Amino acid sequence: MGIKITNNPIKIYALGGLGEVGKNTYCIESERHLIIIDAGVKFPEDDLVGVDYVIPNYQHLKNNQGKIRALFITHGHEDHIGAIPFLVKAIKVPVIYAPKLAAALIRQKLEEKRVREKVNIVEYDENSEITAGEFNVTFFRVTHSIPDSFGICVDTSEGRIVTTGDFKIDLTPVGPDIQLAKIADIGESGVDLLLADSTNAEKEGWTPSEKNVINSINDIFDKAPGRLIISTFSSNVSRIQQIIQATISHNRKIVIVGRSMVNTIEYARKFGYIKIPSSIIRTVDNMQDVKDSEMVVLCTGSQGEPMAALSRIANGTFKNLHIIPGDTVVFSSSPIPGNGNSINKVVNLLTRYGADVITNSIFSEIHSSGHPSRKELQLNLKLFNPKYFMPVHGEYHMLKLHADIAKTIGIPDENIFVLGNGDTLILENHRIRDGERLPAEDVYIDGNDINGVSTAVIRDRKILQDDGMVSVLLCLDSKQNKLTIPPKVITVGFVSYGANEDHLTRHASSQVLEAVNELLNNNRVTFGDIKNTVRSVVSKYYYRKTQRNPMIIPLIMNIN
Ligand SMILES: [Zn+2]
Ligand SMILES: [Zn+2]
Repeated sequence: MGIKITNNPIKIYALGGLGEVGKNTYCIESERHLIIIDAGVKFPEDDLVGVDYVIPNYQHLKNNQGKIRALFITHGHEDHIGAIPFLVKAIKVPVIYAPKLAAALIRQKLEEKRVREKVNIVEYDENSEITAGEFNVTFFRVTHSIPDSFGICVDTSEGRIVTTGDFKIDLTPVGPDIQLAKIADIGESGVDLLLADSTNAEKEGWTPSEKNVINSINDIFDKAPGRLIISTFSSNVSRIQQIIQATISHNRKIVIVGRSMVNTIEYARKFGYIKIPSSIIRTVDNMQDVKDSEMVVLCTGSQGEPMAALSRIANGTFKNLHIIPGDTVVFSSSPIPGNGNSINKVVNLLTRYGADVITNSIFSEIHSSGHPSRKELQLNLKLFNPKYFMPVHGEYHMLKLHADIAKTIGIPDENIFVLGNGDTLILENHRIRDGERLPAEDVYIDGNDINGVSTAVIRDRKILQDDGMVSVLLCLDSKQNKLTIPPKVITVGFVSYGANEDHLTRHASSQVLEAVNELLNNNRVTFGDIKNTVRSVVSKYYYRKTQRNPMIIPLIMNIN
């Protein structure tokens, strides 16, 4: 290869997906063009009061609006498509390329969120080849927990970048095979940078095949004496297919409940990914002829979401479907950290009404079952044989473990990049170096506030919830320039400190008194100065004593 004079550095970065499982958003940007791969959301943990979604900061994309050529979607899971309604409001996306099932789910989502912007969605498959600005994009099929999952190969003037998307190497999948030969071909012809799924980097061995899962499901079916109520993610199409298989082989009938469950199954049936004979489907209104021992209810709400079907069935507000003794309820409850309390509430209700509740089964493995364990990660790295490697889709410790796995198959340490959201890599003439850092912090979405303007409000709520509030009341005689009584310190949200609290507030009060008196010796002091002094003294004091950062609210009453 001769010497190439080049002047077109390519930036590669994530706006979401690094240091977290969620809001996957990866970008490839040259001097003139920019493409985005995936636009996911993250679901907030319990301690984010009132937050419905977390999305990335799109400021950098707004600043580069003119360069944006396309959004490519790897598959139809929320952590890859969930932010599309927010993204298309923030920036103009000329075209979204998505596999068939993901495309149907995206259209549904845009309709539900009443997005009026015109969005051009084009379907691709494993044979597609797409030119997006100066980038040439091709695809390879992978196995995952939803059909129609792809990895993406991007050829640029400076080298080739490949992302696996979410995948596992399932040799006996429920749907189509992973294209191992094509992957090996791509590797053989040279990959400069590989981005790969790190979710299961701590799991030894090989992720069990979907085909093995059927035995565990059959076992649950065998043991359930009465109705079997199964709540699972509507996005786990492969698992839904297995549940339906078991329903058929156990001569049961199935009732499908919950809007997203009904929608997903409808599309998956239409595209041939799920096969259900119409004769076994019942609705809540026409299931009276079915014996309890012959019934399966498939529903949403495995996270204890209060408005989802399972919660409503549990609290008796679901029309014509209530819990009776003899019911067996199966949960897929582990995936999203922070929902523990809501799930417990539902489990307690179900148990009180006489159901047998199973929370720990093959179903609670759902999140991990679609992702590659360590042996698969090694094989993946061997096949692609990349010059440089960047682990993605995982919390920091998962990325780090994945980096270690890359070392075991011979990728040099200095060619491995464990990055955070916003960090950029620069690819130039098949070489990679570190670049600048872009803004990429979390943006919180509250209810229908599609623009994320409530982020500041939510930070306040979070402070109040985690760290409480301290208000300090000062009575000031501004003519005499002195306090008429000692500062009154009132705390909210410090209950755990009990008797000690009195002691804390007294000390805080005397510190404020001292500092404010000193300040008042200066004749030119303003109310603003006094408030700042109070904030600074009180926050330092409370942090030292309690390791918390409460919200400090100084109130000044002027006697004159
Ligand atoms: Zn996925
Ligand atoms: Zn994912």
